[in-house]
Amino acid sequence: MNEKTFWDAVLADLQLNLSELNYKTWASTSYISEMTENTLTITCPNKFAKDQMNGKFLPIVQDSVDKISKKKMVIDFEVGDSKREAEQNKTALQGTPIFESIGASAQKKKNGKHFGLNPKYSFENYVIGSHNQLAFAVANAVSQNPGKQYNPLFIYSGAGLGKTHLMQAIGNKIAETQPELSIIYTTGEAFTNEFIEVIQQSKSASQKSSFKKKYREADLLLIDDVQFIIGRESTQQEFFHTFNELFMKEKQIVLTSDKPPSEFTNLEERVKSRFGQGMIVDIQKPDLDMRVAILRAKRNASKENVSNEAIDAIASRVDTNVRELEGAYIRVLAQAMSDGVEASQINEDFVKHALNGIVKEKENKPINMNTVLKTVCSYYSVTMQDVKGKRRTQNLVVPRQISMYLMHELTHTPFLTIGEYLGGRDHTTVMHGVRKIEDQLNEDLRVEADVKNIKSLLFA
Ligand code: ADP
Ligand code: MG
Repeated sequence: MNEKTFWDAVLADLQLNLSELNYKTWASTSYISEMTENTLTITCPNKFAKDQMNGKFLPIVQDSVDKISKKKMVIDFEVGDSKREAEQNKTALQGTPIFESIGASAQKKKNGKHFGLNPKYSFENYVIGSHNQLAFAVANAVSQNPGKQYNPLFIYSGAGLGKTHLMQAIGNKIAETQPELSIIYTTGEAFTNEFIEVIQQSKSASQKSSFKKKYREADLLLIDDVQFIIGRESTQQEFFHTFNELFMKEKQIVLTSDKPPSEFTNLEERVKSRFGQGMIVDIQKPDLDMRVAILRAKRNASKENVSNEAIDAIASRVDTNVRELEGAYIRVLAQAMSDGVEASQINEDFVKHALNGIVKEKENKPINMNTVLKTVCSYYSVTMQDVKGKRRTQNLVVPRQISMYLMHELTHTPFLTIGEYLGGRDHTTVMHGVRKIEDQLNEDLRVEADVKNIKSLLFA
């Protein structure tokens, strides 16, 4: 059995033992780079895939490998280098069926048209963290296998969190590895304007059809901020025709938006379900560590001599989104330049002064029993009355005990007072509730996640 057949067999087995999402995202994008009698090196497309395969999924992978090889293999994982992949792609291209090259004296395939790509956005300069790791992994998979695995890919998030960057990175990567493909990047707004103009000004049918042709001949269509199109009757229809045609031809479509398809009220059900057939991923706000990582990457790329202290100070003040974070960083640097301060001398006080008026210094929002209860109730969709009431169904007991726990921890109110506030309960009941949650925090991931989420709502 050669490497490829062997790995295909392992993948087939993994497909049965992993969830579809995990299989597609982590396993199917890996390949064997080296195989000896008793060892196997598996190359993963990025560090996250490697961590997943070598961590959580290792027992499953090991099982499959041993089963197929009928012996105990030692597995090693590594992150693929793109040079090697490019080499592999080249050989793969050279190996295309002969009839394709018959008569093609020029041999080389013609480059496709590329519209709207901006080379400044790449996967290499995209910093990955828990807030965007899935979106990154899926985007990366799409760039390696356009039109096959995740079609359409729908990425949504609030503003400034990296949608355009990721979408452009897909385009740039494919332009590099498969230059013969036609790639169009446009925004929902530009698409709409172009369409309206074509309708209004076209004297001939041919102008209209050239608009249609342009989009329908794309191999990769990237539409950024598609929310601009949704809801505009005729543009939406034109977009959907294009979408359908490309989809049928297995051409890759990537869409971004400020909200998930399910939240578009005036989007037809059939369109929603089409979107859902592919992959829908979101990008969350980066946490403090991520914001620091992003600024450090920016500093290192531009070789500015900014201290970590300065970066920490900026990252801890700007928590809205990456765009504003970068804006603040640039502002601090500009201020330093105009004040004649060396970048390396920027300290926390300087940052504070440079960003004065731009970001509000955080005043700690007072947290009291009432805000805790309100937040817990809205998190679990139960009423305050019910939580204070006597019923002891599971859907009320958990919010009740979590309220007790958070009131105790965050407001330092005595058990007695918490009990009174929560519908006249005994202080021992409160004590018991608090202990219960404390215990569960170490054992129950659900409770741990809930407490973390509620706290972040409280501190938002
Ligand atoms: P969106 O399209 O979601 O509004 P953008 O993709 O335009 O956001 O991102 C805003 C800015 O932040 C861009 O300059 C982008 O390069 C940068 N950015 C966002 N996320 C990251 C990241 N994870 N790593 C590096 N830069 C990022
Ligand atoms: Mg954008």
